[in-house]
Amino acid sequence: MSVREEFDAWAEEGRDKGMEERHWHTAKHALARMPVESGDVVLDLGCGSGYAGRALRDTYDAERVYGLDGAPEMARNANRYTDDPQVGYVVGDFDALPFAAGSIDHIWSMEAFYYAADPLETLREIARVLRPGGTFFCAVNYYEENVHSHEWQKSIAVEMTRWDRHEYREAFREVGLHVAGQDNIPDREIPIPAEAEFPLEEWETREAMVERYREYGTLLTVGVAP
Ligand code: SAH
Repeated sequence: MSVREEFDAWAEEGRDKGMEERHWHTAKHALARMPVESGDVVLDLGCGSGYAGRALRDTYDAERVYGLDGAPEMARNANRYTDDPQVGYVVGDFDALPFAAGSIDHIWSMEAFYYAADPLETLREIARVLRPGGTFFCAVNYYEENVHSHEWQKSIAVEMTRWDRHEYREAFREVGLHVAGQDNIPDREIPIPAEAEFPLEEWETREAMVERYREYGTLLTVGVAP
C-alpha cells in the first residue's frame, strides 16, 4: 500500500488529531530546542495534522513554515486547522523535496522519517535544501532500542526502517550532516495506571509501559548542515 492510501485513510478517520495529541507530549520539548530565529523558513516533513508548523509560528515568529505530507488528505486537514497565511501545507514525497538548494533554515520531522522509501536519499535531500548551519531535528518513537515499537510494522502497510541510535548518526554523517546531539525525550504525560490494573489490553506489565514511555520515549537526532 502507498503512503497516500495508508495515511489518507488515517486522515479521514481523524487519526491525524490523535497522533497530534500523543506526539505533542515529547514533540513540544524537542521543538523548544530548535534554534529558529525570527524570519526563518522552516519545513516539517510528514506534517500530519500540521501542529508543529503552527507551534513554530506561535513560539518563534518563523517567517514561513511549510508542512509536507505524502497524503493529500493529511495536507488538506492541516490547511483547514489554520488560517495563518504564513503557514502552508503541501503534498510531496520525501525522496524529492520541492525546494531549492539552501532555501530552508531548519527542518523538523516527528514520527515520519522512517517511512521514507529510501531514507538515505531523503537525508541527501534534507542536506541539499538546508542552508549552511541549518538543522534537521529528527524525532522518532519507532527505532531499534525501543523494543516496544517493533510490532507496529504489523499494523502499517508502508514499509518502515528501524534504525538504532548509531545507525541514525552514521546515516546523517554519510550525507554530510554533522551530528549535534542525540537523546531520548521521555513522555512524562501519558498516564500509567497502578500496578493492580495490569495486564492491560496493550500492556502485559506496568514495567514495560514505564520503560516504553518514561525511559525510551522519543529518540531525537539533531543534524547540522555544514
Ligand atoms: N508528524 C505528524 C504525523 C506523523 S504520521 C505527527 O507527529 O503526528 C507520518 C506522516 O508522514 C503521515 O502523515 C504520512 O502521510 C507522512 N509520510 C509518510 N511517508 C511519507 C513520504 N515518503 N513522503 C511524504 N510524507 C510521508
